[in-house]
Amino acid sequence: MRIDCLTLFPDMLRRALEESIIGRAIKAGILDIRYIDIRDYAGNKHNRVDDAPYGGGMGMVMQPEPIYRAFQSVLDTAKDRPRVIYMSPQGRLFNQSVAKELAEESHLVLLCGHYEGVDERVLEEIVDEELSIGDYVLTGGEIPALAVIDAVARMVPGVLPSEEAYSEESLYNGLLEYPQYTRPPVFLGREVPPVLLSGHHENISAWRREQSVKRTCQKRPELLEQADLTEKEKEQIETWLAETEKEASR
Ligand code: SAM
Repeated sequence: MRIDCLTLFPDMLRRALEESIIGRAIKAGILDIRYIDIRDYAGNKHNRVDDAPYGGGMGMVMQPEPIYRAFQSVLDTAKDRPRVIYMSPQGRLFNQSVAKELAEESHLVLLCGHYEGVDERVLEEIVDEELSIGDYVLTGGEIPALAVIDAVARMVPGVLPSEEAYSEESLYNGLLEYPQYTRPPVFLGREVPPVLLSGHHENISAWRREQSVKRTCQKRPELLEQADLTEKEKEQIETWLAETEKEASR
């Protein structure tokens, strides 16, 4: 998968993405991540890429031409038209199902804004959609782009050792993951649940599924509306919810 990042701060992205699992996938050639410094396309001797907003107001706005030229340079080396995303607090909320959808693409372009944002006309011209990583405002689109790249890239075949590594995790199937344990078997008097030491795979799977449903019920009950549950699990959830209500009213 190829991802081009249009940014004023390429090193911010490069440094973070060179580390760990994503860094290894880049070295192995599974991910082709490119950093396009919008300032290289400023087109003036002071490398200026922003200006005051028309109509007045605080801060500076990123000008359209450098972004447009930076994007054209991406198209010059692209096989097909990539999917172009502007990282923006005004966008569709990014979540695991959006990450799954983007992982199917072969080429993404992520535009990172800064300052007060980006001139609307270049957004209209090149952007397919806006994505937000949450209802808060950051100083730039680089941290949001990192979150998107990390979540998407780990689902690209070959980045993690197997599909199981992400398909059994929180939110992939609409539920939160079961609790995880490792050595030692006893920590500060707390024991690992005995079923996990039993070596009985069917019992372990059943226990994990039950814990996964229970956790979702306790921590993110709204997720259960979309989850694929058996009739027995639905009954069990009713019991847990009734217990929680009873405890709350005590
Ligand atoms: N003035 C803009 C507004 O009110 O919508 C906010 C600009 S913000 C200070 C600067 C840049 O950070 C944006 O252009 C965007 O690229 C990025 N950004 C900030 N918060 C974000 C979020 N929650 N999700 C995605 N990108 C965000």
